[in-house]
Amino acid sequence: MLFLANMSHEIRTPLNAILGYAKLLSHDSELSEKQQKSLHIIEQKGNHLLRVLNDILDISKIEAGKMELHKSNFNLYHLLTGIAQMFQEQCTEKGLNWYEEFSLSHTQLVYSDAQKLRQILINLIGNAIKFTEQGSISLTVKRIDNEYYYFEISDTGLGIAEDNIEAIFTGFHQAPQGADKRGAGLGLAITRSQLQLLGSEIKVESETGKGSIFSFTLELENVQDGIEIVHDNITEIIRLSSSDMVKALVVDDSELSSNLLVDMLEDINALVSSAANDQEALQLIEQADVESKPDIVFMDICMPVMNGIDAVRQIKQNYGDQIVCVAVTSTIIEQTDSQYYQAGFDDYIAKPYRFEAVF
Ligand code: ADP
Repeated sequence: MLFLANMSHEIRTPLNAILGYAKLLSHDSELSEKQQKSLHIIEQKGNHLLRVLNDILDISKIEAGKMELHKSNFNLYHLLTGIAQMFQEQCTEKGLNWYEEFSLSHTQLVYSDAQKLRQILINLIGNAIKFTEQGSISLTVKRIDNEYYYFEISDTGLGIAEDNIEAIFTGFHQAPQGADKRGAGLGLAITRSQLQLLGSEIKVESETGKGSIFSFTLELENVQDGIEIVHDNITEIIRLSSSDMVKALVVDDSELSSNLLVDMLEDINALVSSAANDQEALQLIEQADVESKPDIVFMDICMPVMNGIDAVRQIKQNYGDQIVCVAVTSTIIEQTDSQYYQAGFDDYIAKPYRFEAVF
């Protein structure tokens, strides 16, 4: 597990730079069509590599018994409509019909692990689209009892032979007909374990050549009065308006990662400075006059000199809300949101940086 965690870090850091710079380049309006296509392939394959890496980490976490639930309040209907929108587009692109039926309250909040549920649905619907060449994909979710919900993903694709049904849930196994569409073959093994952790079991009905139905029932605790944690409320910023000058400070000992974040922020016209460690960052902030102090600090939190958490505590003590502090992490050891907030951070982002998250 430790080996994998270190390996993951080693792979993630260069991948972060590859994906980040590919994205930055794609903002260049002078690229020829051919260059845009090449860039698109770099991004697509880079993202694929990242998914494989994440899958391997997930599976090793499961094997080490280290996968945990992180529950929060969320609106199931909003989660579903977000996912539906994303896959509807993919279906249209592939010439497939998309159907959805959500028989549940539009306002009810539930308490569960939204991120895992999202990942489960994305995996199953992603497979359905991957293994279907014509016809349709449908997502049905029904509230069947007070706190019980039924989920069903069906497709009119290749189907799975009966004697392969058990095998497709085994890590690295791929049914023969999937051979020309190789992923890492880990998706379903992860999905099954995630559902087990949520107290549920995945069921499959399938017929070769006709299609497949994957289904499960989940118990989701109703929340009476609570606030919703919005997970994917992302707005893309193209440029900051000139009246909105933002001063950012990037603190990272890795020059590669630091340069990338600086370039990304400069791309939207932020005024950016950088420091190689937290002590240097603290000095920079202290010495700057009032107008030049940063509005926001991006702090890598596994740095050598002093750990970033202490530095943030000090910044918050001296400047309070005047300086927003964002933790930048590349560890795969799961932290709960609350750990960052307790340490004084206002938010956190993970490497590889996604433009939307940074902005
Ligand atoms: P991957 O999709 O990366 O190959 P998965 O673990 O998600 O790995 O799936 C394992 C195998 O199960 C796939 O390679 C495919 O052969 C089969 N499979 C999964 N979902 C479907 C589906 N909806 N229709 C047909 N075959 C499927």
